[in-house]
Amino acid sequence: RFPEPQPRGGRSRLLVLAGPTAVGKGTVAAHIKAHHPEILLSVSATTRPPRPGEVEGEHYFFVDDAGFDTLVADGALLEHATVHNRYRYGTPRRPIEQALEQGRTVLLEIDLQGARQVRDADASAALVFLLPPSWDELVQRLVGRGTEDEAERARRLRTARVELAAQAEFDYRVVNDDVARAAAEVAALAR
Ligand code: 5GP
Repeated sequence: RFPEPQPRGGRSRLLVLAGPTAVGKGTVAAHIKAHHPEILLSVSATTRPPRPGEVEGEHYFFVDDAGFDTLVADGALLEHATVHNRYRYGTPRRPIEQALEQGRTVLLEIDLQGARQVRDADASAALVFLLPPSWDELVQRLVGRGTEDEAERARRLRTARVELAAQAEFDYRVVNDDVARAAAEVAALAR
């Protein structure tokens, strides 16, 4: 079982950072990790192959489909989802439980489906939606980072349109016009 919800205003919080593709969730999360060591950034499991420079256990736990099935069957994931109709991603449950028990704040950087599952599992979770300054800016960022081919970009932009419409479900909205500023705004919610 997931631990009892912490009282709102307590220091131990579960922050969920979601938002459309290429909005910079990963960059904001990395900034928080670097500047707020008191906040645990959850490391997800995924069936996606590693990108150049990605480190096992640091950026993701890279597993194959059978490995992911085992995690699901063992109840080892707090939430899991297939993202962009392609690879599976999930949040390991135990490290989060331990951190919350120790009174730490935990940050999850996950997709919208996952954010909804966490909200349903723990009513005290604070859901934060990261917004691009504009749609054009979002498209430019996705093209600019050059990690996806044309078909994958189109797929992600379709998902992004749907995801942007979901921002009203979130507790907080933060515009990612400047990484340091947006990260500070998210981290401040932990206190
Ligand atoms: P990427 O493949 O670019 O690292 O991540 C693709 C998407 O998967 C991002 O929107 C990211 O937020 C989401 N994601 C990463 N880890 C998890 C997770 O554990 N659960 C869910 N539901 N989504 C995740």
